[in-house]
Amino acid sequence: MDHATARQDLAAAFRWTAREDMHEAIANHFSLAVNEDGTEFLINPKRHFSRMKASDLWVIDAKNPDSAKGTDAPDQTAWGLHASLHRHVPHARCAMHVHSTYATVLASLADSRLPAIDQNSAMFYNRQVVDEHYGGLALEEEGTRCARLFQDPSIRTMIMGNHGVLIIGETVAEAFTRLYYFERAARNYILALHTGRPVRELSDEVASKAAEQMEGATDSEAAFLAEIRAVLDAEEPDYAH
Ligand SMILES: [Zn+2]
Repeated sequence: MDHATARQDLAAAFRWTAREDMHEAIANHFSLAVNEDGTEFLINPKRHFSRMKASDLWVIDAKNPDSAKGTDAPDQTAWGLHASLHRHVPHARCAMHVHSTYATVLASLADSRLPAIDQNSAMFYNRQVVDEHYGGLALEEEGTRCARLFQDPSIRTMIMGNHGVLIIGETVAEAFTRLYYFERAARNYILALHTGRPVRELSDEVASKAAEQMEGATDSEAAFLAEIRAVLDAEEPDYAH
């Protein structure tokens, strides 16, 4: 993928995250590796997600902390979490971290696992990890600790206990689709709990089968991102500039 497309895809993901109300102030970061070994990556500066442009994104070198400094630089947690991920997790070409409402409610429960109770949540069956050891802002040490939890390539969703959610993928389309469905699935689960009635949990066998059936749907992921970009092209085309 050329650099321009990478920037535009990522900018589109920021705009759509704002539309879905999954953003928070000017915090949280999305990153996308742009070189072979993944050590150079795009990341957002301190700007509201709703007005992020392709040309706003910074390129940071995961081996050089000075590349993350300067006017308008992404904050320190961007370096701490994302540089660690890109250094230690080669399949994490794209990483998205948010404190979206329902994912964060889930992360605030004593048991933060998302059970398979509907088709969306089944997507995450045996494909999620809960970080049980939140240790403050995601600076260098915290970032390295989180990166270690992603060593198994089948696990691409981390519910960060007491914090939020961290999603990885090979492409923007894959990571954003997963992020979107995770928030939807968490919303359904939290609302189901809210009724006070028992949830209807899927059997291991069915949850496992459904998860396999939905895995690797790269065509659907690409189509979702293409549709998002088509809407943005019509309504707020400056994202691509
Ligand atoms: Zn955070």
